[in-house]
Amino acid sequence: MQSREHLFHTSVEFLKGIGAKRAQLLAAAFGVRKYKDLLQFFPSKYIDKTQFFHINELVNSGAEVQIKGKITAIFEEGSGRKKRLKAEFEDDTGSMSLTWFQGINFVKSKIKIGKHYLIFGKPKLFNHEWQMMHPQIEELTEGNDKFRAGLQAIYPSSEKLKKSGFSSLVISKSIYGLLEQIHPYLYENLPSYIVREQKFLSRKAALFHIHHPKSQRHLAEAKRRLIFEEFYFQQLVLLLKKISNKKKNTSFVFEKVGAHFNHFFKNILPFQLTGAQQRVLKEIHQDMKSGQQMNRMVQGDVGSGKTIVALMSMLLALDNDFQATLMAPTEILAQQHYQSIKEMLETTDIHVRILTGSTKTKERREIDEGLRDGSIHILVGTHAILEDKVVFKNLGISVIDEQHRFGVAQRAKMWKKNTKPPHILIMTATPIPRTLAMSHYGDLDLSVIDELPPGRKEIVTRHFKENRRLEVIQFIRKEIAKGRQVYIVYPLIEENEKMDFANLQKGFEAIIRDFPAPDYSVSIVHGKMKASDKEREMNEFAEGKTDIMVATTVIEVGVNVPNASVMIIESAERFGLSQLHQLRGRVGRGSEQSYCLLMTGYKLSKDTQFRMKTMVETNDGFKISEADLTLRGPGDLMGTRQSGMMDFKIASLIKNREELQMARQYAIKSLEKDHNLSLAIHEMTRKYLIESYKKIIGWSQIS
Ligand code: ADP
Ligand code: MG
Repeated sequence: MQSREHLFHTSVEFLKGIGAKRAQLLAAAFGVRKYKDLLQFFPSKYIDKTQFFHINELVNSGAEVQIKGKITAIFEEGSGRKKRLKAEFEDDTGSMSLTWFQGINFVKSKIKIGKHYLIFGKPKLFNHEWQMMHPQIEELTEGNDKFRAGLQAIYPSSEKLKKSGFSSLVISKSIYGLLEQIHPYLYENLPSYIVREQKFLSRKAALFHIHHPKSQRHLAEAKRRLIFEEFYFQQLVLLLKKISNKKKNTSFVFEKVGAHFNHFFKNILPFQLTGAQQRVLKEIHQDMKSGQQMNRMVQGDVGSGKTIVALMSMLLALDNDFQATLMAPTEILAQQHYQSIKEMLETTDIHVRILTGSTKTKERREIDEGLRDGSIHILVGTHAILEDKVVFKNLGISVIDEQHRFGVAQRAKMWKKNTKPPHILIMTATPIPRTLAMSHYGDLDLSVIDELPPGRKEIVTRHFKENRRLEVIQFIRKEIAKGRQVYIVYPLIEENEKMDFANLQKGFEAIIRDFPAPDYSVSIVHGKMKASDKEREMNEFAEGKTDIMVATTVIEVGVNVPNASVMIIESAERFGLSQLHQLRGRVGRGSEQSYCLLMTGYKLSKDTQFRMKTMVETNDGFKISEADLTLRGPGDLMGTRQSGMMDFKIASLIKNREELQMARQYAIKSLEKDHNLSLAIHEMTRKYLIESYKKIIGWSQIS
């Protein structure tokens, strides 16, 4: 008999009904190569065969339905790219039309007038007639009824697969064959205490019912179990990584709370820390005196006061004779941090410098020297800090602001800047939905600043369409008359750079006409300007010398000008929710009532309407990030930070938030019982983990 191991790694081409050609197509379209992949090639939906609809029973609910009927006519309409195939379809109660825009020839060759079919899809009422676009269609025959007793699984397919005759039904049959063959070797991979407590189906039963559910209830149970399983193993991987990082990465102990920190706290800090700031600072301090490397992420909404927490953490390093860095994603932001830190530390003997891509050679030499001999205590900068030639005498902590824009590899570079890796503190620009934080940063410790400094007024957000521009201009005049300042932001994205740039220029000229000198002063900042020019313009705005700052999203993160109280966002439909929220966060930083006006065109997609509505309704960054996740999905939200860990087969970070939370709790519990899963109760869990995830992390840590 074949060994079990071998069986799971057999190529699907050897499975009945597949063969070499289809195997190739399956691999190309879905990455399904081996038996074990096919087991986890889950249906995308199910047709409930217990329910058939008649045409006169259809409702516009958006739900997919199946209907039995007969094709009575087939014809083509339009030509060229607008060509489509239409068919009339009827049952005893009425008729409807079916439409295909793609795969016309294929469909045409498959359907015949007068034959009976089962169709499946979303019916829509259009001009008093029921229509279905791209329905799935299968001939009704005696022979293909075998899998239709209850629920029928529908598998994702590709045009090519369909052409090779590999329909959902054939896939379903192949998987049935596979399950029959492989089931004696499927073992339970969850610890028995979890299966018992959660009353989960066994793994075997779950895999069976996900592919061939006996009933809706069986299907729901199979899903519940498999979603949990997927999250549980992902969380185990992340937690094991965290534990092993901690074990491996001893770091410097910052025991002392000394003169620098205390002086700052007593004599310089211009306000009281919020409760949340105090709590987070305490968490950071705990980490830094633990002897293990800190890898902590601080999340907080825009304006929650992350910078001060960063600064005070750095002072703790200084008190223990270490140097500190603060790294920002853009030059402007680095400049701002530098200015404000320098200002706050003016009366101390702490030496702060800034290093960016545009630092001049001579200054650069000075900085290099100061870092080596330890006379520079705090270095603020952009990723220029990461370069190998930047060498510290004794770096103790590295703060990375607005993490989104730094990759993991860059984070790792920081580790090499001292004999032991320095402590790492990551600050996010905007809140990340809990589920994403857990699954993307599950190897980091997490602190949340969930409280804004007192006295902040809610920013009033309004959505205006083009026709109300005059009102907006009058409003700006009124605010400027009160002594306030205004940002006007234009989108500028690389793919559309030329057009966007032209719009920005046009916008700028129009604004100058509406707000002429010498009564008003308007400045402009964009990414193509020289760093020194940008800096000058920003500084003049920060000093209140200009009334209006026209800008691209270079001002998106971090910029802090408390007297600016109006944020106008042009073509707001082109920004994502997090970006809009981040831009809005540039105002509302002083004591005055602030406003954010979203300007859009007339015709708005559903998504855009939802985004505008969300912005108008809430100022809460955590709520906004959740909404953004729903709209864009985890991949887009996190940009390039993709890893194998994110490719969930059945679990969804959007739909299964509670399940993730529960899986994490269980993963923590399992590791608390048995930190390297070496007890007998975890034997099969460990085995599965190693088999399934060994590519993702090295296994030294659990052996
Ligand atoms: P973010 O979290 O967006 O980086 P910042 O650190 O830039 O926020 O802080 C926003 C503003 O709030 C700054 O002007 C800062 O000085 C001020 N601030 C921070 N903490 C407090 C506090 N506890 N009380 C009052 N103002 C605060
Ligand atoms: Mg900030």
